[in-house]
Amino acid sequence: MSRLEIVPHPHPALRWKSKEVSRIDDELRAMVAEMFELMYSARGIGLAANQVALPYRLFVINPSGDKAEKDQEIVFINPQITRKNGSETDEEGCLSLPEIYGPVTRATKIVVDAFDLNGQQFELELEDLHARVVQHEYDHVEGVMFTDRVASEELQKIQPLISDLELQFRNRQKEGTIESDEQLRKKLLALEKAR
Ligand code: ZN
Repeated sequence: MSRLEIVPHPHPALRWKSKEVSRIDDELRAMVAEMFELMYSARGIGLAANQVALPYRLFVINPSGDKAEKDQEIVFINPQITRKNGSETDEEGCLSLPEIYGPVTRATKIVVDAFDLNGQQFELELEDLHARVVQHEYDHVEGVMFTDRVASEELQKIQPLISDLELQFRNRQKEGTIESDEQLRKKLLALEKAR
């Protein structure tokens, strides 16, 4: 498999409602290892498969952001958020929208279940930052961006930055350094069928 990279908005992978993972194998484990590496290099605390143009329902987090703190790493495969409680608004950013931040209201406490890299199902009760990161990443596998959840007044403030990112992406498509949306979607479909 070719090397993964974090794709920016408005790459079609970021609007893809991803497919359940049906097979956990060495190739998938290699993808996950690469996702952690990319996440740390970009100074993120979470990364979803959609963000590296893989149409699978999986994401990784390490809320410490510290590569040395391996015990903080969690892989979520086929995640489901089964309970949500409370609500709190806080600034969020996203590796697919570099240097763009906005306030998002999320549940303070959640219960999430998922499978790990050994195919074992687990359930976690999370709160505060952990809960926020998981809700943000879960949105990614559903094709939802945090900016979809920013209130319109606040969104207006960051809209110029978002439009700028879109313009850069479209220009690169015109130059041919990024494939067309149609080609990118074809690739996503092929990847979806392959797993
Ligand atoms: Zn994100």
